[in-house]
Amino acid sequence: MPRSYVHEARRRVGPKRARIVPIIERLAADHPDAKIALHYRNELELLVSVMLSAQTTDVNVNRVTERLFEKYKRPEDYLAVPPEELERDIYATGFYRQKARALRATMAMLLEEFDGRVPRRLDDLTRLPGVARKTANVVAAELGDPQGIVVDTHVRRLSQRLGLTRQEDPVKIERDLQRLVPREYWGLFPHLLIWHGRRVCIARAPRCEDCVVNDLCPSSRV
Ligand code: SF4
Repeated sequence: MPRSYVHEARRRVGPKRARIVPIIERLAADHPDAKIALHYRNELELLVSVMLSAQTTDVNVNRVTERLFEKYKRPEDYLAVPPEELERDIYATGFYRQKARALRATMAMLLEEFDGRVPRRLDDLTRLPGVARKTANVVAAELGDPQGIVVDTHVRRLSQRLGLTRQEDPVKIERDLQRLVPREYWGLFPHLLIWHGRRVCIARAPRCEDCVVNDLCPSSRV
């Protein structure tokens, strides 16, 4: 897209600070069901589900955890079986050896340092083996205490298209969003972008004509 056209589009929609709350409110009204797609009943199941969701779909994880969580209910349960057995039980999520190793090491740390509970603080969560910042952000937000903003492929694409960031790196995108998005929306905001990205602002063919924020978006094709 020519630079002059981008500049004109940004000018037309106005500054991002003025657009962010209307964008959130309209997306929230359009996607009232936007929430985490992983199935879990407690904090440990949440942590395990998010760890297993790397490089696979949420649907696939839910299929695996339906049986997994009947067998593994406490951190001790993941350590009580031979590693190969846990690998078999999570095989269908892919990268099963790395994931099994990370799960066992995480369970050991939960027992040693956190009384078998899942910590709430991002700094503690990111110390758990195999728990990167994105995983930690998802867990903290679901536990009701978001301390950052989850940046996945949808959040990255939509933030760029909506002119909320010019960055490419997820850490820098998150920093831009933290400066812009009011804190009370840090948990909800990524879900809104993820659901909007799946349903409307699709990667290859955004449906701008059906988009409720097309008058606030510098990338709108309408
Ligand atoms: S107007 Fe188009 S590019 Fe912008 S958010 Fe909506 S669907 Fe995506």
